[in-house]
Amino acid sequence: MRRAGLAALIALLTFGNARAENFPSHPITIVVPFSAGGPSDAMARILAERMKMTLGEAVLIENVTGAGGSIGVGRAVRAAPDGYTVSFGHLGTHVANGAIYKLGYDLVADLEPVALLPSNPMIIVSKNAVPAKSLQELISWLKARPAPATAGTAGAGSGSHIAGLYFENITGIKLQYVPYRGTAPAMNDLVAGQIDLIVDQISNSIGQVRAGNIRAYAVTADKRVESAQDVPTTDEAGLPGFHMTLWSGLWVPKGTPKDVVAKLNAAAVDALNDAVVRKQLENLGLQMPPANQLSPEALGAWQKAEIAKWWPMIKAANVKVD
Ligand code: ASP
Repeated sequence: MRRAGLAALIALLTFGNARAENFPSHPITIVVPFSAGGPSDAMARILAERMKMTLGEAVLIENVTGAGGSIGVGRAVRAAPDGYTVSFGHLGTHVANGAIYKLGYDLVADLEPVALLPSNPMIIVSKNAVPAKSLQELISWLKARPAPATAGTAGAGSGSHIAGLYFENITGIKLQYVPYRGTAPAMNDLVAGQIDLIVDQISNSIGQVRAGNIRAYAVTADKRVESAQDVPTTDEAGLPGFHMTLWSGLWVPKGTPKDVVAKLNAAAVDALNDAVVRKQLENLGLQMPPANQLSPEALGAWQKAEIAKWWPMIKAANVKVD
């Protein structure tokens, strides 16, 4: 009995190690918790394409959308902790949602950080039919309206929603949020004139701004963004201090072997250091994480610091979700 128990234990440990050593031996899936064609999806697809070169296996994207990304993150949390299911997320999904939803999982205790990914300042954009031509004019137009303007978001707790709350907070304006499963469908409706504005990730808006399909007012950063040089910063446009950067990251379920996490981290870091990938990301207005912030531990520490910073403001905003 004892010998059988010991043999089973040895077999289990050997099998566990063998699995980690051979990782990956089949395709990996990155769960993107927002719509295809949106900013999270675009970044994940660019990185996945390069990560497969380091990993030697396909890296697939699965879009599991809804409830501000909390459904997709839940899917990854409940997956086997073997490195084959990776959770892509950002300040909204892996920080803000913990203060908004009854998640049924813990964003820190149930996930293992893998790597910090590029970040994106936000850009205030409207449909072309809005008469304002500058941020000050937009604010006056919003204040003068009898009913709140409509602002598209990727759901409660998403980047576009947190940025909208911040915008309301700093201006005293009230917005009526229209939630989508990602800012890709929200952008379609903005271009079509169905909603008034989005406080969006630059990577999602930049193409439509360049094409003249929507109007940009300001980026929420202290410096102009390389890929949108003619759009003023919020400091320049009259809302000093309205700075927000939406960072992204990768996680795996808690209990994933350390060397599997290290392999996934190495693949992400190789992708971020690849000149072609960097160019693609920079063209979308994305900014690289600092070189000394690329370890799993750095993402873990950063996520905790962001929870401490954002939860009080989000809880004070008393966001209601159905
Ligand atoms: N990142 C989301 C998306 O890809 C948008 C958001 O968080 O606002 O649609």
